[in-house]
Amino acid sequence: MIESNLYIDPKIASMQAGEATTDAIEWVKVSLTILPLAAPISDAKVLTGRQKPLTEIAFIFAEIRTREGHEGIGFGYSKRAGGPGMYAHAKEIAPVLLGEDPNDIAKIFNKLLWAGASMGRSGMTTQAIAPFDIALWDLKAKRARLPLAKLLGAHRDSVQCYNTSGGYLSTPLEHVLENVDSSRENGIGGIKIKVGQPDTGIDFKRVKAVRERLGEGFPLMVDANQQWDRITAQRFGRSLEQFDLTWIEEPLDAYDIEGHAALAASLDTAIATGEMLTSFGEHAQLLNNKSCDFIQPDAPRVGGITPFLQIMQQASFQGVNLAPHFAMEIHLHLAAAFPQEPWLEHFEWLEPMFNERLVLKNGRMQVPNRPGLGFTLSEQALAWTVATEEFGKRP
Ligand SMILES: [Mg+2]
Repeated sequence: MIESNLYIDPKIASMQAGEATTDAIEWVKVSLTILPLAAPISDAKVLTGRQKPLTEIAFIFAEIRTREGHEGIGFGYSKRAGGPGMYAHAKEIAPVLLGEDPNDIAKIFNKLLWAGASMGRSGMTTQAIAPFDIALWDLKAKRARLPLAKLLGAHRDSVQCYNTSGGYLSTPLEHVLENVDSSRENGIGGIKIKVGQPDTGIDFKRVKAVRERLGEGFPLMVDANQQWDRITAQRFGRSLEQFDLTWIEEPLDAYDIEGHAALAASLDTAIATGEMLTSFGEHAQLLNNKSCDFIQPDAPRVGGITPFLQIMQQASFQGVNLAPHFAMEIHLHLAAAFPQEPWLEHFEWLEPMFNERLVLKNGRMQVPNRPGLGFTLSEQALAWTVATEEFGKRP
């Protein structure tokens, strides 16, 4: 007679017996999809004349299938310029994946990096790797029948969530205030608005009005999109202390490591930055120089989930908090696996491309109880796809 606490279901026993499985990547598909935005939007980079308003976003999707029939999907993106270049580079390096065991994600990441190393190990080359790396993590979690957050080891099943899309500089203040109200009605946990205009007086008025509308204590952030110089950031940052901001984002040029460090040391308000950086090495510089209180990596920009996890490890060790940039569909899982309580950035822009929706409740985004990232491409995404190329043979 078998004692009940020693009983093992025969199905589980057969899964655990014998040799572990191996697999091989047999098919890879790369697509370029152009997502149009409902209305052109502007941040400070537009108001200082450095960039044109954003009207569309280019997405590079990678779909991977293995000999054993496992599948994964990942994506990267580019705003304004670079999408077609990324797509071209992704197609060049895609054959590197064929025949590899999809379990060996770190090895494959390095192979993809070295395949394009003469173009550099940051910038467009790492961004072109991201769709593949993310697809491999999606595949691994799907095969384990776990949400990616659970595969990584989650600290929580939801992440506090703020939005940005209601507070662009192209939006008149009265509309920003209406957006604030509707976001709160929809359960958002924090509000971020754009600043960084040539006239800081206008920024001040908008921040003050939004703080008054929100009331004391509701999380509010501002984002200058790199458009202040050091003196402006110092002076204006000091005048913003009264509004009890959760953070000031990208006050300075994304690569001004020392300037951010000086600001972080002198202001009480937290400094957030990192969204523009495109490798683990660049993020390590921010962390090593104490340049921020919140680090804002973007998995598609740094080359995928593999380097993102390295950034998370170092940030957590050094006591820096996490607020990933954009792409909440991916970052929700990663933020759920970060030890400290992070923030997730909410953008509804990507929703038409997927069949599934994320659920926001009491200020927090819920980790979906679906295997992998938990997303499938919609008919609309296929309709917006302008180019695809396949490698290998679909098993
Ligand atoms: Mg930002």
